[in-house]
Amino acid sequence: MTDTYRVLALGGDGIGPEVTAAAVSVLTHTARLNGLTIEIEEDLLGGAAYDKHGVFCTDQTLNKALQSHAVLVGAVGGPKWDGIQRGSTPAEQDGLMRLRQALTVYAGLRPARNWPSLTAATPFRPGLADEADVIVVRELCGGAFFAEPRGSEPIEGGGYRAFDTNLYTTPEIERIARVAFELARQRRGHVTSVDKANVMESYVLWRQVVETVGQDEYPDIKLEVLYADNAAYQLMQQPARFDVILGDNLFGDLFSDLAGTISGSLGMLPSASLPGFSTAEEVPGPAIYEPVHGSAPEISGLGIANPMGAILSVGMMCEFSFGRPNLNRTIERAVELTLDENCLTPDVGGSDTTASVTARVIDHLPAAQSGC
Ligand code: NAD
Ligand code: MN
Repeated sequence: MTDTYRVLALGGDGIGPEVTAAAVSVLTHTARLNGLTIEIEEDLLGGAAYDKHGVFCTDQTLNKALQSHAVLVGAVGGPKWDGIQRGSTPAEQDGLMRLRQALTVYAGLRPARNWPSLTAATPFRPGLADEADVIVVRELCGGAFFAEPRGSEPIEGGGYRAFDTNLYTTPEIERIARVAFELARQRRGHVTSVDKANVMESYVLWRQVVETVGQDEYPDIKLEVLYADNAAYQLMQQPARFDVILGDNLFGDLFSDLAGTISGSLGMLPSASLPGFSTAEEVPGPAIYEPVHGSAPEISGLGIANPMGAILSVGMMCEFSFGRPNLNRTIERAVELTLDENCLTPDVGGSDTTASVTARVIDHLPAAQSGC
């Protein structure tokens, strides 16, 4: 285990740089308290990169990411860049998609839990989501967001035909299914896989492969397969009955935002995008850590963005890229102590700022670390 880690921080657009600065300062303090040396380099991604370099992720930034232990991303995109002609592949169209593809971070881990102090900020009636604690495992490198053919072409008589392909291979499904089963083994032993096997071929294969991996390799794990529409309904009706939710790139995207309701705000959700995960081995290459939310242009620059999703993301970085799960627990605890004293941004019903919330998390780190 090395004691010096290289982190590339890519704030991106909108509130991205604001929450990234907050997360970087929590990371720096956590490292200092624990004798970890972290070298943090900053660079541009998304619209910010486009404005300077004419592309959403430069080759240099990509190379820096490949040389890092971990990449911290804020968020990318916004109305300013929506109309830009972007090329035909996802990597040309979006800096974050380029990074995910180049780093092969197919395993998106997106935990969402109830925080006792935020129950009033959730849409659930008291008691319903108190015990809710889920992790969405989202496939990140394939499916409808990447597969070919895709395109948009004019049709006779005016208008266009535009199309994407939902395509998965057996090995792609196997590797993400294993991630979900491995995580379930560390948690409550329950995987719910969501699909639309009733109407789409790609999901027929998805379901069949997930079931085979479950039967052959993880007979100790309870596997439930649900149609995604029903799963969405059940997640809102009975959030506490779910443990690991496994979805492809598209459904994983939807279900992770949906799970944000459990935490009281999308701004609370962290994520880890890993090039592989198993309980037995270290993460095999640079990983990306980012809050689940987007660039929230309407609150950008106001200093009121909720930094907790980004802060909890550096906790996941400590666990998965630095092999220090105890530091993830420390950061989580410091977040909880901050929420418990009602130090809250407006999205969760408070009137504090990004800066004041972050300062309180940092204040709580020593006590959180000693288990107080
Ligand atoms: P969004 O996640 O930016 O915002 C959704 C809602 O949640 C908004 O009401 C927003 O104000 C609120 N919100 C999100 N994060 C918050 C935070 N930290 N604190 C307080 N409130 C928060 O999604 P959107 O509005 O659909 O998209 C805005 C832009 O972000 C678009 O350009 C989209 O393409 C982009 N986007 C980027 C990513 C990413 O970089 N990973 C993800 C989703 C959307
Ligand atoms: Mn999303």
